[in-house]
Amino acid sequence: MEELIKSKIREIPNWPKPGVNFKDITPLLGDGDVFTKMVDYIAWPYSGKKVDKVVGIDARGFILASAIAYKLNAGLAIVRKKGKLPWQTISKEYSLEYGANTIEIHKDAILPGEKVLIVDDVLATGGTMAATVDLVRELGGEIIGVEFLVELCYLNGKEKLAGCKINSLAKFDSGNLASPAKENNDIKIGIIGGSGFYDFFGSEAKEIEVETEFGSPSGKITKGNLFGKEIYFLPRHGKGHELPPHKIPYKANIAALKKLGVNIIIAPAAVGSLRTEIKPGNFVVCDQFINRTTKRDDTFFNGPEVAHIESAYPYCENLRKIAIIQGQKFGLPLHSNGTVVIIEGPRFSTFAESLQFSRIGADVINMTQYPEVILACELGMCYLNISLVTDYDAGIYAGGEAAPVSIGEVLANFKNNTDKLKTLISAVIENIPADLNCDCKKKAERAKIN
Ligand SMILES: [Zn+2]
Repeated sequence: MEELIKSKIREIPNWPKPGVNFKDITPLLGDGDVFTKMVDYIAWPYSGKKVDKVVGIDARGFILASAIAYKLNAGLAIVRKKGKLPWQTISKEYSLEYGANTIEIHKDAILPGEKVLIVDDVLATGGTMAATVDLVRELGGEIIGVEFLVELCYLNGKEKLAGCKINSLAKFDSGNLASPAKENNDIKIGIIGGSGFYDFFGSEAKEIEVETEFGSPSGKITKGNLFGKEIYFLPRHGKGHELPPHKIPYKANIAALKKLGVNIIIAPAAVGSLRTEIKPGNFVVCDQFINRTTKRDDTFFNGPEVAHIESAYPYCENLRKIAIIQGQKFGLPLHSNGTVVIIEGPRFSTFAESLQFSRIGADVINMTQYPEVILACELGMCYLNISLVTDYDAGIYAGGEAAPVSIGEVLANFKNNTDKLKTLISAVIENIPADLNCDCKKKAERAKIN
């Protein structure tokens, strides 16, 4: 998607003044297919959420915001340059890439407590967006996301937007469109999952035995090739499912994949549902976790090297977007967000525990996501979870129609939906670009304090 967007952006050097390389998005808007995909791509992660208003910023931001508001069935609020709005306004002055400006919004454009998504075409120095964020907050709006079509990373606009969840479809690491800096050309993908994934590989697949300083991983790693990309499969519970969740060598697994050069991990997992609307057979692309395990070694940094990994958004947003779009393309029953609570296991939850987990905000429940995801984060790898719902956990949420979960039900439901899961994962692999250009690697570098 990013390559597609970049291919449709025209660079205008020294416009509107010398030294500014302007990104002209009109060729992109002029291509109906790309424009539709772009709007779908930005809107889809919010489609399951309540969005009251989409805010568009004068003038090109209106184009995207309006299409996205339509898609999300949300209202449109506009932020305009000074003097353009006819009724009572609040305003904010800011400096921008070339000059200074004041923007305004009508006082009733956002009502207190409304959930707001802000959309603009380009994140440059961040001044316009920072002022818009201030205006929305002053009116009492709750900002649930800030989306850009293009981010000019070298202008560090993100620094002005601390505390906001920011996404950009296409990122430019340097001012030169012709040769954007690429740091992730060498894509190697690890899959950590059940034994049903062996048939992903052709006859040329080979098994590799890897040892790490943290011991042996769960099993031999199978190396193969899919869509021209190197794939490394690791059976999470061992080849014969001999490892229970609390005995999985999580650190050895992640370290072994890292040793093989893997920089992207796709991690399918079985989960129980804690919400009526998340049904067995559904997929959830988790974006948050709550850890309830206590006995697991969950860091590579036990001293003397110390690191504090940022965990606010542990799952790779770029990979999540790819999975969501592909799931939508195949018409899969897929939830684009979800919080997974991880319990120690191996027993399932009591009725009371299950109810408690739903009350603290968990959507699904599982025994293996932690510390797997966070160990991957510590080593700077992109991690994507695709959860397959196998049951209603303790049965509370099925409207009296489901018995509490049993292992027979979990295995049967997983087996019934394995083909869909494999279709989705292979579509994700096919669509991972050569340059994922995300924050995961940089986040791991920032974490280290010595
Ligand atoms: Zn990433």
